[in-house]
Amino acid sequence: MYKALQVSETGQLALVKKKIPTPSSDQVLIQVEACGICGADLSDISGENQFMRVPGHEVIGRIIALGENVPLIWTMGQRVGVGRLGGHCNACDQCRQGAFVHCTNQTYIGSNQDGGYAEFMLAKTTA
Ligand SMILES: [Zn+2]
Ligand SMILES: [Zn+2]
Repeated sequence: MYKALQVSETGQLALVKKKIPTPSSDQVLIQVEACGICGADLSDISGENQFMRVPGHEVIGRIIALGENVPLIWTMGQRVGVGRLGGHCNACDQCRQGAFVHCTNQTYIGSNQDGGYAEFMLAKTTA
């Protein structure tokens, strides 16, 4: 189990314990060392449909578990950073034009994927 701050009701955070997740094939599990606090977190905490979501999208931590198909550039113990964009898909029209930031299949950390107001978090890897 690990501790996280998650949205308990609109505009409210609660300290909870969650089960440490296993990374899927293209994800790493990160032990969070620090997480910035950003103005965008306010809308993540106060927005609709954020119940049970862990905010925080300016994350630094170390990789402590690797999915089985993670590119070789990512290694155990490596210090990494995670930002707002959850990782592009390389398959949608935007990605095929090289506009990865506009990928239509990516998550937004702290908004529709759990973020770094926690001791651990998952992150998608890219090569
Ligand atoms: Zn931010
Ligand atoms: Zn894409």
